[in-house]
Amino acid sequence: MPELPEVETVKRTLNTLVQGKKIQKVTVRLPRIIRRPDDIRVFETMLEGHTIERVERRGKFLRFLLDGLVLVSHLRMEGRYGLYAAEEPLDKHTHVIFHFEDGTELRYTDVRQFGTMDLFLPGDDLSLPPLNKLGLEPLDPEFTPEAFKDLVAGKNTKIKPLLLNQAYVVGIGNIYVDESLHRAGIHPETAAKSLTAEQLNRLHQAIVATLTEAVNAGGSSVKSYVNGQGVSGSYQHKLLIYGRKDQACYSCGSVVEKSVVGGRGTHFCPSCQPLLLM
Ligand SMILES: [Zn+2]
Repeated sequence: MPELPEVETVKRTLNTLVQGKKIQKVTVRLPRIIRRPDDIRVFETMLEGHTIERVERRGKFLRFLLDGLVLVSHLRMEGRYGLYAAEEPLDKHTHVIFHFEDGTELRYTDVRQFGTMDLFLPGDDLSLPPLNKLGLEPLDPEFTPEAFKDLVAGKNTKIKPLLLNQAYVVGIGNIYVDESLHRAGIHPETAAKSLTAEQLNRLHQAIVATLTEAVNAGGSSVKSYVNGQGVSGSYQHKLLIYGRKDQACYSCGSVVEKSVVGGRGTHFCPSCQPLLLM
C-alpha cells in the first residue's frame, strides 16, 4: 500500500498533469469505488463542468480541490492514476474516467478494486469521514517532538501498532514504521509508555528524516507501485531494514529478523533494536 511518500509523489505528479483542467464528463465503470454520494450518476453529474484547481494530500488520501467540490481519493493497495489521450485504449482495470475538455482523460486504474472516492462540498471533507479523525501530519510544523511525546505518553500499547494508527500520526505504514524504529534503535514491540524522553526524541527525528528522504526520492516501488506519471520512486534501494529478512544489518552485521507485530510482518535487528523489559 502506498504510504505518505508515495501518495505525496502521486500528488505532486497529478499537480503537473491535471491542474487547471476542466471536466467535461465522468464515467464510473465500477460503482463500488464511489462511496459518496450513494448514486454514481449523481457523482458523475456533480463533477461535470468543474475545474481541478490543485491536488493536496491528507495522510494517505489525495484531495482534488475543484471549483466548488472536493474529491477525496484513497489508492489503498493498487490504485493509480494516469493521464491519457481520449483515443488510447482502456485498460480492463480502469474504473473511473475523468474526461477533460482538452481531449485528455485522467483514468483511475485499480487491479485489486480496494480504492475509494468520496465527493464533498468544500469544508465538509475535513469534518466528515474518512478525513475527520486523522492525526498529525508528520511533515507539518505542528509535528514537534513535544506533540509526539504527548501522543505517545502513557499509551498502553506496543509502539509499532501505535505508529500505524492513523488517528495519532498519519501517512506512516508498515514500511516506514519499520524503517523509523530501526533508525531510532527501538524494538517494535516496546511498550509505548515505557519509552524514555530520549528514545521518543530519537524516534521523532527518525520518522521525520525517513519520510523526508523518501519523499525526496519519489517514494518506494516495493511491489508494483508506480506514480501518476508512470515513473518509479527509488527509495526502495535505500531501505535499511524493511524486506531484508535473513540479511546482515547495515549497522552491526547481525541477521535481520522478521516477526509479526500487531498482525503485520515486521523487520528489525535484534542487536540494534533490543527488546528492553521494564
Ligand atoms: Zn543491527
